[in-house]
Amino acid sequence: MAQESKKSLFWQECKSVVLNERQIKIINMLWDGFDGKLNTSKWAKTANTSPATALRDIQDLVEKGILCKTAEAGRSTNYELAEKYRHYVEAGSETSEAAEREAAAQEKQSAAPVSLFDELNKDYRFREGFHTCINCGTCTAICPAAEFYCYDPRQIVTIVQTKDDEKIEELLKSDKIWYCGECMSCVTRCPRKNGPGLVIMALRELSIRLGYFVESEKGRQLLPLMHALAGSTLKYGYCIHPKMFKWEAHKESGPVFKWHLEHLEQSMARLGANYMGDGPGILRKIPQESLDEVKAIFDVTGATERMKIIEEFSAKKAQEMGLSMEEYEQRAFEYCSNKHFNN
Ligand code: SF4
Ligand code: SF4
Repeated sequence: MAQESKKSLFWQECKSVVLNERQIKIINMLWDGFDGKLNTSKWAKTANTSPATALRDIQDLVEKGILCKTAEAGRSTNYELAEKYRHYVEAGSETSEAAEREAAAQEKQSAAPVSLFDELNKDYRFREGFHTCINCGTCTAICPAAEFYCYDPRQIVTIVQTKDDEKIEELLKSDKIWYCGECMSCVTRCPRKNGPGLVIMALRELSIRLGYFVESEKGRQLLPLMHALAGSTLKYGYCIHPKMFKWEAHKESGPVFKWHLEHLEQSMARLGANYMGDGPGILRKIPQESLDEVKAIFDVTGATERMKIIEEFSAKKAQEMGLSMEEYEQRAFEYCSNKHFNN
């Protein structure tokens, strides 16, 4: 099989794997005949990046099963394409020919790997919210989040506009993408019809999908937030239900609220609610069949899958931090450094 076809087959197999531009470049070089052994310093030099970024890129590819370490260790550690991709080279002629035909057929549809920017561009919110930005700063001036947080929507759009995967990756791992309140005030004022709030939505989605959210303090808060809001929605049919509210975790609400929670039925009755009752009324019990429908909506729209991803990456991060899941979630809920605020 021709080398070009093997390479094409490889990219077909990896077409849904998200890679940055540096990774794409060096994988292509490996297929085209890399000069010498691939190690961290060579990666850094070839991709014009720092050794730390090079190592991160390589480890990411190892985790994704694209690269593996050779037998050489220590200072001689180097990497090569993973064993499973070598079957293109070793496969018998019949299999190879069939694969070659398939690759040729698909080649026209382009097996080009995707960069982070390309991934963002697949999101309709991004396509609708991202046009040429003239850096006027109107979005920042109108943004209520920018009033309180160290946050600048103009800067977010500027970074994305560079199409620089290294910078986009940094953004995806930062606190910055979690400050926006999705109010869309920016959309109404941008002279270029950009929607920084829509761009943020796409960035958040990608950050979750790639597991980058766990690298920031605000991103880690997704776990307790998801348990509180999605948990309440699925269990009671309300995004916030008094039964999910733990007074111990919100002592700032004061002793009156504690009493209120301990006497929910009486206090709700005095407020005119039909608390957990049948039939209509505020805070009525939502029938099981309606809750089943809510669950079906979560399943069909991908929310269930996204929740699973958040759980999985959070568990991995908890392990990395040497914490149990309970400790990790508690810390994510409680801890708030003062680096986020304007003053
Ligand atoms: S949508 Fe986000 S970025 Fe836009 S104005 Fe509202 S808080 Fe600011
Ligand atoms: S208002 Fe629009 S054009 Fe101006 S900085 Fe914000 S996104 Fe860019």
